[in-house]
Amino acid sequence: MYELIVIGGGPAGLAAACAAWDRGLRRILIVERDKELGGILNQCIHNGFGLHHFKEELTGPEYAGRFIQLLKQTGVEVRLDTMALDILPDAEGAAVHMVGRASGYRVERTRAIILAMGCRERTRGAIGIPGTRPAGVFTAGAAQRYVNMEGWMPGNRVVILGSGDIGLIMARRMTLEGAKVLACVEVMPYSGGLNRNIVQCLHDYDIPLYLSHTVTDIRGKDRVEQVVVSKVDEKRSPIPGTEMVFDCDTLLLSVGLIPENELSRQAGVEIDPRTNGPEVWQDMETSIPGVFACGNVAHVHDLVDFVTEESQRAGEAAADYVIGRRWEKGAGRPTSDERTIRLKNGDGIGYTLPQRIAVDRVDKLCTVAFRVSRICGPSRIVATDGAGERIAAFNRDRLAPGEMERVALPRVLLEKAAGDVTLSVEEKEGESA
Ligand SMILES: Cc1cc2nc3c(=O)[nH]c(=O)nc-3n(C[C@H](O)[C@H](O)[C@H](O)COP(=O)(O)OP(=O)(O)OC[C@H]3O[C@@H](n4cnc5c(N)ncnc54)[C@H](O)[C@@H]3O)c2cc1C
Repeated sequence: MYELIVIGGGPAGLAAACAAWDRGLRRILIVERDKELGGILNQCIHNGFGLHHFKEELTGPEYAGRFIQLLKQTGVEVRLDTMALDILPDAEGAAVHMVGRASGYRVERTRAIILAMGCRERTRGAIGIPGTRPAGVFTAGAAQRYVNMEGWMPGNRVVILGSGDIGLIMARRMTLEGAKVLACVEVMPYSGGLNRNIVQCLHDYDIPLYLSHTVTDIRGKDRVEQVVVSKVDEKRSPIPGTEMVFDCDTLLLSVGLIPENELSRQAGVEIDPRTNGPEVWQDMETSIPGVFACGNVAHVHDLVDFVTEESQRAGEAAADYVIGRRWEKGAGRPTSDERTIRLKNGDGIGYTLPQRIAVDRVDKLCTVAFRVSRICGPSRIVATDGAGERIAAFNRDRLAPGEMERVALPRVLLEKAAGDVTLSVEEKEGESA
């Protein structure tokens, strides 16, 4: 019987397992379906990782390597090439069904679980691009793996649909590898990526960014030959007569990430439709006692440093749950006499995480991650209680949906709040971005 099974050995799983070990757990297993630890970071060979956590600029593999070294100093068990197939929670913990290349089909019992399965990319099928079905249409992440890990070039003349970070990074990567990137096309009127990536990956290489445009046709028999791009109106419908034809052999799709929650759903974990990830308390515990979630499985992060911080919180909380240190009042739930708050979306907010706060169990500050639903200039992020009282406000110069934001709500203010708390954006009048 394990004390903790961590599903996924990416940055989230690694940080969570190390934190749980440091907090006193000794029987921990990481289950990873890939042949090595590190998750998606192994294919992110550009720099820019670790600025917050390590205060230095690392590549993805370097960042993962630091945590793999830390893990080696613990007694955490790792099973690679092993896929978790099912989680069956019960009164004593859970049974995790898994199948491994070397170990075969196994059922392992555990007191607690951390879900750290990351996310997957949306594909052509998910967004229904019209046209023929030739070779040469890749998700940007698959192309990143081919170029950076397998040493294959997916194509020579490239159009990228979607201006999320992976698309932007791949525009630069393909250019550096000798391909011609003809355009980056974005259906929204703003980019979905970090500002620093737009500058460093598109502007620095003179790659045009077409905002409010989308791909309306893919042409080609065996291989992509042309991609048609059209302008869209405010309802995101293509405008006839605005078509531009690009002669290219490759279309890369960077059209969104979906948290990988099939296992969570099967286990009965409540999923928040705003994040597509589990609903969590402030310590990352899901709706099932003893089941925690962190990293991209909970909500899509743009910076791995915040994945680490969140996952350490989950690892510590899972250890406290197993040891009974913090949750002795109840079996992993706030007791009925404890004050709980739901966090709600107000104007301009796309989601908040955590979704629920057990006020008595917040130490001093409760970190709330969120994304806005539109580009905003100088603004205030306002937290309002159920009686309409403003309990906290935070200034920001600029807000964009592509950048995850965080605020810290002090426990003393949460204690005073009446009812649930709503987070909203108030743009400051007369000031522009
Ligand atoms: C294609 C892609 C490219 C990215 N590029 C960048 C970038 O350039 N810069 C940046 O800052 N961020 C990037 N990100 C964001 C990055 O995902 C996060 O910063 C971080 O890696 C998330 O960590 P994670 O551990 O939650 O997920 P992941 O790194 O995705 O790790 C999840 C792990 O869980 C494993 N797993 C999943 N399901 C199972 C199962 N059932 N059983 C066993 N193992 C399982 C997977 O194999 C994987 O190793 C990228 C994300 C993607 C998807």
